[in-house]
Amino acid sequence: MPDVLKPGATIGILGGGQLARMLALAAAPLGLKCHVYAPDKDSCAFDVVGAHTLAAYDDENALARFANAVDVVTYEFENVPAKTAAYLTAHTKVLPDPHVLETTQDRLIEKNFLAGLKIATAPYAPVHSATQLADGLAKVGVPAVLKTTRLGYDGKGQAKIERAADANEAWRSIRNVPCIIEGFIKFQREVSVIAARGTDGTVECFEVTENEHRDHILYISKVPAKVTPALATEARRVATRILNAFDYVGVMGVEMFVVRKGREQHVLVNELAPRVHNSGHWTIDGATVSQFEQHIRAVAGWPLAKPKRLGAKIEMINLIGDEILDHTHWLTAPNTALHIYGKGKPSARRKMGHVTRVWPGE
Ligand code: AMP
Repeated sequence: MPDVLKPGATIGILGGGQLARMLALAAAPLGLKCHVYAPDKDSCAFDVVGAHTLAAYDDENALARFANAVDVVTYEFENVPAKTAAYLTAHTKVLPDPHVLETTQDRLIEKNFLAGLKIATAPYAPVHSATQLADGLAKVGVPAVLKTTRLGYDGKGQAKIERAADANEAWRSIRNVPCIIEGFIKFQREVSVIAARGTDGTVECFEVTENEHRDHILYISKVPAKVTPALATEARRVATRILNAFDYVGVMGVEMFVVRKGREQHVLVNELAPRVHNSGHWTIDGATVSQFEQHIRAVAGWPLAKPKRLGAKIEMINLIGDEILDHTHWLTAPNTALHIYGKGKPSARRKMGHVTRVWPGE
């Protein structure tokens, strides 16, 4: 199998949501085709590709045909089942290498990995029982956040503990599954670094992005982030170290908290997303290369581009649930790009589209 894809080659994408859709849209101008594999017949990425497979992730016959039909496989979500990843790896090249998923699918393994790199995170402790929760709380203090180690996203599988006396209730609400307890961080702001690493080991980070959440779901991403140049350098250095430690190929989103220590700002890493990331959507309309194109370039074995912001200020706003129904007013807003994911009927908390507003200037 060639390490460097030629135009006309096919990239297989596991998962059929908006991230796969935007990856396929970025591959097309480079002359690369995409084949999307997803179990849901309404997958919005199916609409923009020439080939798709509608099958369950554990359907080995379908996976075998998929592996045969593509030149490399990538994925748009981090919870690719381990068996699916192992099956595909045995039959074709999968990038980023699925060993990364073993770390990022489990919050405890991920935090231990970061600790091994001496990268700062919130204080944490493993929790498998009510007793361990009490011990963990004694270590990290209150307030604290109890999180399931696996399958949590957008605030699901989390319970905030304000006082030690609330611990049992939190443990019951999480239903006795393996967890970690984290100290609650009084952060100044939340930021992310979207970083890409090529097959030659080159890392290119997008500019640090500032993120605001609403009801635990990303709402707005902004650049430039309100951070000092020193903090921005630290954040990008931390992201680079993480990608290098994984020998990573592709785009990763590194979510961080900015905290004040005395007169200085520092970052604590909250979470790693081994894929293109919602907080990087601004790069489609607001940078010389998008996160999606960088990911496609990386998995194709092509050189990465050097990203540069196009505008004085950029804001990406997610259109969640019914907000998509109001989309027409964005069509005439100045310097605004509208992206509708084509998911059909909106439902509450579902990401249906986004807009990017670019303020002209340097
Ligand atoms: P997560 O699922 O870990 O990305 O958490 C979702 C959101 O919950 C984060 O973006 C933060 O806004 C908040 N959060 C998570 N962990 C902590 C923490 N240890 N301290 C303060 N806020 C947190």
